[in-house]
Amino acid sequence: MATLPKSVIIVGGSIAGLLHGVYLKRNGTNVTILEQDANAIRSSHNAGICFGPSVQEFLRLYDDTGIQSCQPGVITRLAYRQNLYWKDANIVRHLTSWGLLYRILRANFDGFPSEAVTPPPVPRTGDGKGRYLSGKKVTSLQKTEDGVVVSFVGEDGMEESFMADLVIGADGLHSTVRSLVQAPMVKEYSGYISWRGTVCEADVSPGTAGYFQDRTVLGLLKGTYIVCYIIPPDAASFVPGTRLINWVWYCNLPETPETNLEELLTDSNGHVHTNTVPSGLVRPEVWKAHLAEMLPLIPAPFAELFAKTENPFVTKVNDALCSKATFLDGRVLLVGDALSTFRPHFAVATEQAARHCLGLGRVWKGEMTLELWEKEAVHYAIKMWLGSRVIGAGLLRGWSEFLFFAWEYVMFFTMSKIGV
Ligand SMILES: Cc1cc2nc3c(=O)[nH]c(=O)nc-3n(C[C@H](O)[C@H](O)[C@H](O)COP(=O)(O)OP(=O)(O)OC[C@H]3O[C@@H](n4cnc5c(N)ncnc54)[C@H](O)[C@@H]3O)c2cc1C
Repeated sequence: MATLPKSVIIVGGSIAGLLHGVYLKRNGTNVTILEQDANAIRSSHNAGICFGPSVQEFLRLYDDTGIQSCQPGVITRLAYRQNLYWKDANIVRHLTSWGLLYRILRANFDGFPSEAVTPPPVPRTGDGKGRYLSGKKVTSLQKTEDGVVVSFVGEDGMEESFMADLVIGADGLHSTVRSLVQAPMVKEYSGYISWRGTVCEADVSPGTAGYFQDRTVLGLLKGTYIVCYIIPPDAASFVPGTRLINWVWYCNLPETPETNLEELLTDSNGHVHTNTVPSGLVRPEVWKAHLAEMLPLIPAPFAELFAKTENPFVTKVNDALCSKATFLDGRVLLVGDALSTFRPHFAVATEQAARHCLGLGRVWKGEMTLELWEKEAVHYAIKMWLGSRVIGAGLLRGWSEFLFFAWEYVMFFTMSKIGV
């Protein structure tokens, strides 16, 4: 599809879905987003995301809220074992919270008002219509002469169908669209989990608040590592003292009968989650047992954050890679995590989604072909998928896995260079 489609259905109303929705709406297309979550606003994990040049470029062009979207770039401090001031690395990152970016995109897409964006911006002249339907789980796709029919089930169990020129699958790691088009893919558990949480700057001691001030901190410990950085709360406050110190703590947990992943993923209501036990549902005894085992090994500023976090959440770190992004003669596309989900070490999930969107913009303007877009998207996906495996294995899993992934990474680059 080389010209801008008139009507588009996007499956998945998270970051990738909203980026594509805003882009298309701003360019005159009528867009419907179908999101399975029944809440009017997607519940955020109150956790941080990092965004790169494509997200910044996207917001510069299409965001009309006028509010600050991220903490300006900060450098990275490395702590090694007990040495808290081991090195400062010139890795600069722009950081924000998932909830704030979501609210900015919703305000631009369907004028959704929130505590962060009041009032939402008025539509631009020439905008298409943006419709965000919550509680709609997509179940099937069917290509016809004129487009694609998308069927979905509402909260009441009723099935409905809409038709559009183009369908974009932005439905994440466990993508339904990807299964429906039988896309070739691999999906694997990494062998480690991430605990995550936030603490308000005002709730920690001045020494700890100062240690995390205006920098990303990587704590490289034995067999485990921690990433911390400051983010705004979902309501978009950047005033020092009101912000949150966001932390991610990676811990090895191979899938064996002894480690009992299922127990970890069982929430306080007894429900077993596939991937993430959300904030507020982690069983207190699981978190307490983890702290009791690990805290004695953790340097003071990190330990204070963990001890003061009220509602941590835990995620099984998976990755997925799909080697094809266009289906049904270009009428169905996969974007964002649905195309490829990386282990989060490079923090480029949102960047990947924005790259997909800006790239498709070039296809619709006639500046590149859909085939070239797909080739570039898959190449970037393989590069990041392999690269993040190398980093994760090096920091958490040991030499043999590290060398294996490093070898695959080198082979990929060699093959790309010689055009295979
Ligand atoms: C609620 C939530 C909170 C998150 N919080 C963070 C965070 O704090 N930090 C961070 O780094 N990343 C977070 N992420 C992940 C982050 O958004 C992604 O890694 C990245 O931005 C790319 O997102 P995506 O839109 O491709 O996929 P995802 O964010 O996974 O979104 C996929 C969306 O598709 C919906 N969906 C799936 N199947 C169907 C279906 N059959 N029908 C309709 N809808 C469907 C899902 O409900 C979901 O909203 C979060 C994701 C979610 C869903």
